[in-house]
Amino acid sequence: MPLSKDEQAKQERYRDARFANQYDSIWQSVGKCVFCDLSEKYVFFEKHGVVMTISLFAYIDGHFMILPRRHVRSTKDLTQLEWDTIREFSYIAKKLIKKVHGVEGMQFIQKDGATAQSTVNDHIHFHCVPFDAPDLMEWRYRKLKYTPLQNVTLYKQARKKIVESDLKFDEKYARPSGMRIVCDLVILNDKRQILLQERQKHLKLSPDYLTLPGGGVEDFSVPLEAELAREVREETGLTLDTRKITLLDSRLSSTVITRTDPHLKATYRANNRFLWNTYLLKDYAETALHPGDDCESLLWLDLEDALAHPRVSDGIRAVLQKVSE
Ligand SMILES: [Zn+2]
Repeated sequence: MPLSKDEQAKQERYRDARFANQYDSIWQSVGKCVFCDLSEKYVFFEKHGVVMTISLFAYIDGHFMILPRRHVRSTKDLTQLEWDTIREFSYIAKKLIKKVHGVEGMQFIQKDGATAQSTVNDHIHFHCVPFDAPDLMEWRYRKLKYTPLQNVTLYKQARKKIVESDLKFDEKYARPSGMRIVCDLVILNDKRQILLQERQKHLKLSPDYLTLPGGGVEDFSVPLEAELAREVREETGLTLDTRKITLLDSRLSSTVITRTDPHLKATYRANNRFLWNTYLLKDYAETALHPGDDCESLLWLDLEDALAHPRVSDGIRAVLQKVSE
């Protein structure tokens, strides 16, 4: 669809703003956090709350940005998953710039702090700039005061600051490893039946397995069992007494998920690795359970039937085997 005359003019204003030195005056009239209020039509890829989006005021054709949806200021505020995603996106970015613009080089820039010429200081973003020639960015070199050895000596003399910052980071900002932790629960009732759930359409696995109630750990400030209880409550309405559950199995695993990127309208299968803890709740006296948000329906299956069920994955079958022994 062709753009309206006004829209076309607006697009050209964005395109020419930096070159025409109008960027600063446009910027100062904005007021709100533009990255919290991203225009979705410029976003072209997204995973784990991190997006790739076109820069409205590009430095050069093809310039785009990687940023978390969350309004956080600094790398230290990123979760491990966001950081890992940014790492992956920077890899994709370089490939993409070469493919689309034929440029082999990319500058990956994050400007930290007001004096680093960052206009949007308080919502972290990483620039991916196709870089083919130095005229794009001019550095005016200064006469230096320190030799390389003096430079390193100065930093080494600040060893107390380095150690102190290292400890402070571990204490305040360190996050658990990037691998997802999934906790789920075998609920065995007094009729030797177990509870499985039909996943909602947009959360289907591939193949389309039935799964145990549970899910990914989001809050690492509480015990894993508390996170499991939250998931189980959300999916089944059951209030779990975590003192009554035992750990049945803990292993590394992966599932193939079908992911659809809404921006690209691309659907593809991806491997999803995680640490998988399965707990057991025995002798559950059945009361009415109600499927919650993430769950289409709940079904009780005889343990023996579940073991042979075509929609029970090998992973769950192995753990149910332990229950039946
Ligand atoms: Zn923001």
